Amino acid sequence: MLLEVRELSVAYGKAVALENVSLEVRAGEFVAVLGPNGAGKSTLLKAISRAQPSSGTLRFRGESLQPLPAHAVVGKGICHCPEGRRLFPELTVIKNLMLGAWLRSDRAAVEADLDQVHRLFPVLKERGAQVVGTLSGGQQQMVAIGRALMGRPALLLLDEPSVGIAHRLKVEIFDAIKRIQANGTAILMAEQDAQSALRVADRVYVLEHGQVGRSGSSAELGSDD
Ligand code: ADP
Ligand code: ADP
Repeated sequence: MLLEVRELSVAYGKAVALENVSLEVRAGEFVAVLGPNGAGKSTLLKAISRAQPSSGTLRFRGESLQPLPAHAVVGKGICHCPEGRRLFPELTVIKNLMLGAWLRSDRAAVEADLDQVHRLFPVLKERGAQVVGTLSGGQQQMVAIGRALMGRPALLLLDEPSVGIAHRLKVEIFDAIKRIQANGTAILMAEQDAQSALRVADRVYVLEHGQVGRSGSSAELGSDD
């Protein structure tokens, strides 16, 4: 098992955002967490990427993540593409992408991964010297995903990659995410758009009010509705 989340709870002060959430991601698997606004999806991805639940356990490749600081979680192979993208709008596309590789020292491997990001999103190669703040929303999302890939993840955490993006680019972004999986990267994606998520994910968990309701393969859950 690549990632095991057991009985995870997170509270903001007295407000419980996640309660006893358990889920798993296998190596190379594409798992989606579905749920409406406020269900706890971002909180779940943040708890994993920072290894900081209020209670519960997080295991990656069988090892506990809990004693690790956030940068060490990246070093273990978990990279987060957060909600709101968190890019540097005044820096160029290429600089934003390279920031994802900040912990890596093998330059040749970093260059090879940059080529791969450019193959996934050719527009980012064309616009490498453009500052990110002048890109469209969809293009900024591509930069955010590309930056997370530059950390060379075994598990990529994606927080609502299609939110606020025009339909055409949304299809392009989901296609790219499928190709990322095909290259061997496991994906845990938070998404409100159930239809799109069920089309691309292998397995789905439905999060409601901080708890996991239904879960199963996309084929099972897709045929319920
Ligand atoms: P989702 O990503 O599914 O929209 P979130 O994880 O962002 O859900 O939020 C889950 C719940 O936790 C919501 O009720 C939200 O208002 C609350 N919440 C999220 N972040 C904070 C925070 N920093 N402080 C207090 N409450 C928060
Ligand atoms: P959206 O479709 O998300 O609203 P825009 O209308 O802002 O995007 O941009 C449309 C296209 O023009 C995009 O390809 C974007 O990268 C490009 N663009 C927007 N602003 C600038 C700029 N200041 N300099 C160069 N290209 C730009």
